[in-house]
Amino acid sequence: MDLSYSTEYETFRGEVRAFLAEHWPPKGDEAALKKREQESRFRRRATEAGYLNRSIPKRYGGSEQAPDLLRAGIIREEFNRVRAPMEVAGLGMMMLVPTLLECGAEWQKEQFVARTVSGEIFWGQGYSEPNSGSDLASLRTRGELIDGANGPEWIINGQKIWSTFAQYAHYMFALVRTEPDAPTKHAGISYLLIDLKQPGITVRPLKQMTGGEEFCEVFFSDARTPAHWIVGARGEGWKVSKATLKHERSSVGGAAASRDLFLKLLELARRTPRNGKPAIADPLIRDRLVQLQGSVESHLYSSYRQLSMAGRGQDPGPVTLMNKLVSTNIGHDIARLARDIIGDDLMIAPQAEGAGGAGPEKWNNQFMGALGVAIAAGTSNIQRNVIAERGYGLPRDPATDKT
Ligand SMILES: Cc1cc2nc3c(=O)[nH]c(=O)nc-3n(C[C@H](O)[C@H](O)[C@H](O)COP(=O)(O)OP(=O)(O)OC[C@H]3O[C@@H](n4cnc5c(N)ncnc54)[C@H](O)[C@@H]3O)c2cc1C
Repeated sequence: MDLSYSTEYETFRGEVRAFLAEHWPPKGDEAALKKREQESRFRRRATEAGYLNRSIPKRYGGSEQAPDLLRAGIIREEFNRVRAPMEVAGLGMMMLVPTLLECGAEWQKEQFVARTVSGEIFWGQGYSEPNSGSDLASLRTRGELIDGANGPEWIINGQKIWSTFAQYAHYMFALVRTEPDAPTKHAGISYLLIDLKQPGITVRPLKQMTGGEEFCEVFFSDARTPAHWIVGARGEGWKVSKATLKHERSSVGGAAASRDLFLKLLELARRTPRNGKPAIADPLIRDRLVQLQGSVESHLYSSYRQLSMAGRGQDPGPVTLMNKLVSTNIGHDIARLARDIIGDDLMIAPQAEGAGGAGPEKWNNQFMGALGVAIAAGTSNIQRNVIAERGYGLPRDPATDKT
């Protein structure tokens, strides 16, 4: 098997390198600008050149390129090599933009997609509630349509929880029960866009065991949103939410992140002494590293399979779920081996704020964060159930609520 790139792709790599040599890191007057401004200018140029936001139409701020796995891989490799910024991060980019492109009204795409792509606005996700996580369709936050002074609008009351970085978000995409008399719990939900900066909304960050505050409770008390800020039809938010979840799971399942993490683990094994030698020379550590490398490589090829199916317009179905599950397990196994390599030093490492840091505290966060990834976007047990039922056609879990 020849896994090298063809001349066409090596030429493309040369073009990407030439672009980066000219634009990153910033030079001249731009070197003095604030990092945020440098990144935003760079992203604009990289999008114009066709390297970023490739799947987003030009009229909504993207570069509208034909799907090409190898080109996308080369761009990621080359951008990572010189630490150039990739697309804006966050839930808006990860979930809302693809959902609006798939299910949104034209005015919603025009008003929200380009501003999200450019990083002008950020979004929180309002799905989970204190008693509705895995059983999301049981959610109780209510939306009532009234004729307000400014035209028809939804009045929203209830509570969301675990909304990632909602304290920094301008807007929220949320699931709200608008048809309480619908025959099934899935049928009465609508997908609403909500301005978080209004008097009826309180956002309260939650303190985590890492010391960070990455999640929030969000309380709605007669909060308002215009009637037409609904994505999809009234009462059909469940269908729209499935589109969002599909994108969320694909992102969480990204094999590139597993590979980057594994490379950091290798680096740790090379520089950490163990019995007078680098840890990587210890046969037990080597054995675990090799097993992990096998998992990382096969995960990478599964993710290529998922992407090529999506590129051909086929629904990757359970492959997306499988990749999310595998990625979660690999992240946890990598963190566990890092913890064993570092040993006792990890226990006395300082708590790192958020996900930052480069020393042992980074691995502390990775270890604890890996537990969270096994819960986010549907827990690993739920993924296993869905893979078994939809992928293998096994009977439905008798413990699962059938309403
Ligand atoms: C890092 C992170 C980020 C998150 N970000 C957001 C966000 O931005 N917005 C948002 O809305 N939510 C977010 N969440 C919340 C997340 O979606 C929920 O935590 C998740 O859906 C699980 O719900 P729960 O916590 O209520 O657990 P529960 O649903 O109560 O589950 C508890 C346990 O029971 C198991 N279980 C439950 N039902 C079944 C079943 N039918 N079969 C087998 N096992 C079952 C689960 O696997 C789990 O182990 C985030 C969570 C994490 C960890």
